[in-house]
Amino acid sequence: GLILGIESSCDETSAAVVKEGREVLSNVVASQVDWHRKFGGVVPEIASRKHVELINPVLEQALKEAEVSFEDLSAVAVTYGPGLVGGLLVGIAAAKSIAYAQQIPLLPINHIEGHIYSNFIAHKDLEAPLVCLTVSGGHTDLLYFKELGTYQILGRTRDDAAGEAFDKVAKVLELGYPGGPIIDSLVGEGDPTAIDFPRPLLTEDTYDFSFSGLKTAVLNYINNQQQRGEEINKADLAASFQQAVVDVLTARVIKAVKEKKVGKVILAGGVASNSQLKAELEAKLAGLDVGLYYPPPKLCTDNAAMIASVGYYHYQQGIRGDYDLNAEPNLRLG
Ligand code: ATP
Ligand code: MG
Ligand code: FE
Repeated sequence: GLILGIESSCDETSAAVVKEGREVLSNVVASQVDWHRKFGGVVPEIASRKHVELINPVLEQALKEAEVSFEDLSAVAVTYGPGLVGGLLVGIAAAKSIAYAQQIPLLPINHIEGHIYSNFIAHKDLEAPLVCLTVSGGHTDLLYFKELGTYQILGRTRDDAAGEAFDKVAKVLELGYPGGPIIDSLVGEGDPTAIDFPRPLLTEDTYDFSFSGLKTAVLNYINNQQQRGEEINKADLAASFQQAVVDVLTARVIKAVKEKKVGKVILAGGVASNSQLKAELEAKLAGLDVGLYYPPPKLCTDNAAMIASVGYYHYQQGIRGDYDLNAEPNLRLG
């Protein structure tokens, strides 16, 4: 089947045509980043208006590049959350019109599942069963895919997300935003054993994560140093903090791999681009004969092909949306 995907949850307006879930015929992404940059972040009002302007030309371009017409489509998949309500509604309205006009199924898709499925577009032969670690600014979830199209949540964070911890630590160190990539690049100059930060829940028999205690430990360390008039070695702190995060994330993945007996692990979310996380996981998994996969940078940003890919598996399973589909700005996994 040919699935049309539509994505408008944040500041990219995107449409894509994907064949059998994994073959990308087109993936048109119109970024609004230049409009938002001068305001220092995404302005929801501007985003909604830009989505309205861009959605039809982007859809037309996606069909043109794929060399298909509306009549060729099997279904239309659209992001309905999480994201900015105004943007989501633009994509949903477009998807409903097309589904109604063509009398084809409407497939409501969770944006975060889309990010996970970027892996299946990037690695065409990748098959379940596998374990997925989703680590971003808002999510830290460990998932088990017995087959593509469904998953089981093994564990998630009990408080802060991993990316959130990176961003908060970078903020108190006045390193800039987003903090993850900056800390990542600083780590090479530091000693990961310099400061003994806690590894929350590391020894407990759980798949859950917790990062707020680690964040507090970092803040306390900084306060203590300042009170004593001692200097803070930012590289040592960054390296020690990142080592703690990587230790915890790696341990959870290894536990899941062993207990679920899978031969593959996939990563999704912004923190998945952390160089130390990838290197240490890859090395540890290689020892267990387990492969590690992650999407290339260009598929890590918001795009509609990943939405169409999830849509294909839902389509095959007979999962359908109704015309009363609404945006769910706070939608979560599971
Ligand atoms: P969500 O998708 O959960 O709503 P988000 O949009 O903030 O949240 P992403 O865009 O996937 O998430 O990822 C952004 C996060 O990834 C930020 O917290 C950022 O600091 C972190 N990040 C990016 N690169 C790295 C890196 N190299 N190391 C660690 N963290 C990183
Ligand atoms: Mg985002
Ligand atoms: Fe996204």
